[in-house]
Amino acid sequence: MSRTQLGMPGLRPGSGNLFAQEKFPSAARRELGNTQLRKNLKHATSTIRGKRLNVTGELPDWEQLRDAGSALKTAVMARLPELLEAFEANVTARGGVVHWARDADEANRIILDLVRAEGVDEVVKVKSMATQEIGMNEYLEEHGIDAFETDLAELIVQLGHDKPSHILVPAIHKNRTEVRDIFLKEMPGVDPELTDEPRKLAMAARSHLRAKFLSARVAISGANFGIADSGTLGVVESEGNGRMCLTLPETLITVMGIEKLLPTFSDLEVFLQLLPRSSTGERMNPYTSLWTGVTEGDGPSKFHVVLLDNGRTNALADEMGRSALHCIRCSACINVCPVYERTGGHAYGSTYPGPIGAILSPLMTGIQAEENGSLPYASSLCGACYDACPVKINIPDILVHLRGKDVDAHRGGLPAQMDVGLKAASWLLSDGRRLSAAEKLLPLGRLAAGRDKKIKKLPGIAAGWTQSRDIPAPPSQSFRDWWAKEHQSPEAPKAPEETA
Ligand code: SF4
Repeated sequence: MSRTQLGMPGLRPGSGNLFAQEKFPSAARRELGNTQLRKNLKHATSTIRGKRLNVTGELPDWEQLRDAGSALKTAVMARLPELLEAFEANVTARGGVVHWARDADEANRIILDLVRAEGVDEVVKVKSMATQEIGMNEYLEEHGIDAFETDLAELIVQLGHDKPSHILVPAIHKNRTEVRDIFLKEMPGVDPELTDEPRKLAMAARSHLRAKFLSARVAISGANFGIADSGTLGVVESEGNGRMCLTLPETLITVMGIEKLLPTFSDLEVFLQLLPRSSTGERMNPYTSLWTGVTEGDGPSKFHVVLLDNGRTNALADEMGRSALHCIRCSACINVCPVYERTGGHAYGSTYPGPIGAILSPLMTGIQAEENGSLPYASSLCGACYDACPVKINIPDILVHLRGKDVDAHRGGLPAQMDVGLKAASWLLSDGRRLSAAEKLLPLGRLAAGRDKKIKKLPGIAAGWTQSRDIPAPPSQSFRDWWAKEHQSPEAPKAPEETA
């Protein structure tokens, strides 16, 4: 039976690698048991944090730059449909082809068709969060096409049959000895005497990749920015592998989230200052590649852009949460997050870890998708992420907003345990006599405590508290009882105002 849809089509939630398959607390508990991971993370995040603070501190107008970045992104979100159409028209006018993908499945199908049309079974890749989000490598592999990562950290993750755990430093959870072991086991033709010296590791990767760059006929990239008024795209990177992929093959396919647009070329000025300082702690990116359409005899002769929604319009429809789409994937919030530093990125399940992942994944997929409702609780709400964010995304406020959505989603028309508990507390605390009566029950709490005078397990919603800490046994006497007794006694110490 066919159906006729009247009115606007509904929003389509994101799909692909955006889902936590396990509740964050249990995934985090498992990851916390990995002491090597915690050691690696502590070292890496504290190094990047220090570098970022140095280079942001030296700019007298850093706060104004952050304000400008935030204002530009807010303006982009307000004009997104218009800017996307302008971008499409300009890419097309300069010889590129624009494809629209509503979700991960559509994007993957489009990419597969484009690769097959070139008659190849291998492609080289520039590091890209969008292609990880849609699970492109796995999809291509299932259809007989090998996608080779060329970013060093992505290569380590790919050869190790692992998953990235950080937006910027995907192999942050591996130390150099572990990297050496992966290379020795998985890299074809590697020197069996390879040591874990960083330079030697980089040289091994370099010679492995060089052959791929020179033979690949198709490259796939993401994009840091798309410029609406010219159809220009931009990728920033540190190793030069991106530039090799963007210039050597005959065909270039770029997958870009629809939120990556900037209205004009001059807007890049703000973001090319904000991004490197916030991400790698550098004053500028070692490689900034910009290209517009195709030019005969210069770079790829065929160029495609896949514009990816995959839940971004879902996030845009959330008035409170839409500023999460301002994110420029610098990872500054991740590097300052005390929760991320201890659990690492795998605990979040989604491609996007840390504070930005804790809001972006549920906003794109909906709060009820898989275990994504547990992600907004993966924060102490300390606010360090907000302070560090170069585009001033108020992550703590959005976390609280999403926690509210999660509670509402589970309410099911009935009051939640928390509602009942707070109502009871309000009733109890609003009357002194009721409170006195309740305090008479305190000795029961002492019975629940063991010999060490600690309560180790509470029931119901309170169980979350005792999962990671004990509660001291209540005193044998309440403060109010003590006060009343002391003031009735003839030897009671006089209150200060009585002795003045
Ligand atoms: S939320 Fe802000 S700090 Fe975090 S990755 Fe995005 S832009 Fe960077």
